[in-house]
Amino acid sequence: MPAGPPKMIITDQDLAMTKAISVALLNMLHRYCMWHITNKFFEKIRALAHKEHYAEFKNCIWNSETPEQFEVGWVEVVNKANLSGNDWLENLYEIHERWVPAYVRHIFSAHMTSSQRAEISHSFFKRYVSKQNSLLEFVTRFERALSKVRHNELDMDHKDVNEKPHLKTMYSMESTMSEIYTIEIFYMFQEELFQNVAYKLTTTYEDEHHSVYTVRRVKGSGLRVREIVVDKSSNHVGCSCKMFECAGILCRHILAYFSRMQMEDLRNEYILWRWTKSAKAMRAALTEDGTQFVEELLSLGEKKLCDMKKVSQDDGVGSSIQVQIFRDHGLNEPLQVRAKGCGKRLKGEKEKAAKKARRCNGWLWNSLQDGDE
Ligand SMILES: [Zn+2]
Repeated sequence: MPAGPPKMIITDQDLAMTKAISVALLNMLHRYCMWHITNKFFEKIRALAHKEHYAEFKNCIWNSETPEQFEVGWVEVVNKANLSGNDWLENLYEIHERWVPAYVRHIFSAHMTSSQRAEISHSFFKRYVSKQNSLLEFVTRFERALSKVRHNELDMDHKDVNEKPHLKTMYSMESTMSEIYTIEIFYMFQEELFQNVAYKLTTTYEDEHHSVYTVRRVKGSGLRVREIVVDKSSNHVGCSCKMFECAGILCRHILAYFSRMQMEDLRNEYILWRWTKSAKAMRAALTEDGTQFVEELLSLGEKKLCDMKKVSQDDGVGSSIQVQIFRDHGLNEPLQVRAKGCGKRLKGEKEKAAKKARRCNGWLWNSLQDGDE
């Protein structure tokens, strides 16, 4: 079962990042973003001349399940397209172990093949902040963006607790997993479970250690054949599609095997903890364990700020900076700290009003609630 720290990082082909990751993250596979690569195909290999070969390149890249399949398919399509001397393709082939799914699918990536999480984060935060923002505006807007993220998370949590997904089969496994998985993950699992009836297993090999089956769709021609291998000593079942290793959700092929074996429930090794409703409860418990550590850090920071304040007051010059310390999940009175060399600065209306009232409890929070986006 995939567990522990991340085993893979996905970025574009930035050279500096490649070098830094090779030095700093030694035990992590550095994978290149598929979107950034495939998006350049039309630009780099003369779009109109090779339009009909694009589908073949895509098929070779996405549907090769083993390195051998990819290498045979790649040579074939490159020759067919008469692109054997193309510099860009040759460079791309040199780094194929960093981006072709057949080489990286065995490592858990939550089914991601692109740097989508970073791109989505950029896009999301750009709706809230810009380089024209002052520091105060940036912090205010950034906090507002975080509030939005947290609201969405609460909304999803609410659905997980209160909504019951619609079941599509009579398998007891489906009902059990609807209670265990979060709704979003359950629907992915449900689709695989629902599809398993369309597949037929055939025993191809058996000895004292392993049983091997081929799995193919009952109807449809030209569809690929998957291979299921059962380790008899550990009872572990693996599929050549590597969906479980990559996404942490069992594929329809393994579920077809379980169905044939009349397994009613999944063993723990096939239930990824991070996809369960219980995962957040565990995370909350861990946060609680770290409370003392955080408290000590905050105390240290508070003492440091007090020292800075004392030094600044002794100097007798500088402007006032609002510093806020969060404790007990609430907002305390911001500390007034004098800093050197800043000179006078213009103050906003809200800040003036807050100062006038002589108390600032929650000023930042309030500004988040009623400001614009
Ligand atoms: Zn499979």
